[in-house]
Amino acid sequence: MLGPFYPQRRLVDFVLGASVQPCPGCGGEPPERGRPYCLGCSLELRGMDRVDALGLERELAWRLPVASVHALWWAEAGSRAEALYKALKFGGRRTLGPALGRAMARHRERMAPLPDGLVPVPTTIGRTWSRGYNQARLLAEGMATHWSLPVYPHLLQRLEGGLNLARLGKAQRMEQAKRDFIQANTVAGRPYRSEERDLLGLHLLLVDDVMTSGATLEQCGDLLVRRGAQLSVMVLARRRNQI
Ligand SMILES: [Zn+2]
Repeated sequence: MLGPFYPQRRLVDFVLGASVQPCPGCGGEPPERGRPYCLGCSLELRGMDRVDALGLERELAWRLPVASVHALWWAEAGSRAEALYKALKFGGRRTLGPALGRAMARHRERMAPLPDGLVPVPTTIGRTWSRGYNQARLLAEGMATHWSLPVYPHLLQRLEGGLNLARLGKAQRMEQAKRDFIQANTVAGRPYRSEERDLLGLHLLLVDDVMTSGATLEQCGDLLVRRGAQLSVMVLARRRNQI
């Protein structure tokens, strides 16, 4: 899976002190400067088209009123898409976030109208601290930069002490997600008061890295809809062959 070797680039990177890391999708030669993954990976990655998006929309629509649902890639077990989102989520490859966010924005703008703002799925303070970032927020910021739109990272909160949803069955995931996510602040930054419809008239795009069961998106989306928002969803990757 090794791509071509570029000794000149290695030398330039060495002189400039840039880190020379292997491609996060395939572990081969480092990507071209400024690209998140190598050419081989970009040829292998399976992007979602309009038909896929309609399928995703149907999956979430009976659980939640959504205007649109998009994912940049399908991610089967062992795929390069899986390797890429795991490199961002668990591998400390922070710079992937904004770059992949921009790719998500370019992908979505061909299929759906722009939202008014973006809301990343929150993570716990502890996890943000240990990881150094919230990957959903990096993706949302990459998209927002591309579109010059605001990001609202403080509308929702994820409580500490929740279980890892990936280890639970589908029904348990939903139950746990309901306990994990709560309303936090208003757009203006003050604490949210129960039943307030402060998001009325705003079309918000909820952003996460991976959709598996959809429990997280359903719960976070529901909290935003209750406050009056029109909701769309976009994730980096849709896991396949998962319960
Ligand atoms: Zn690659």
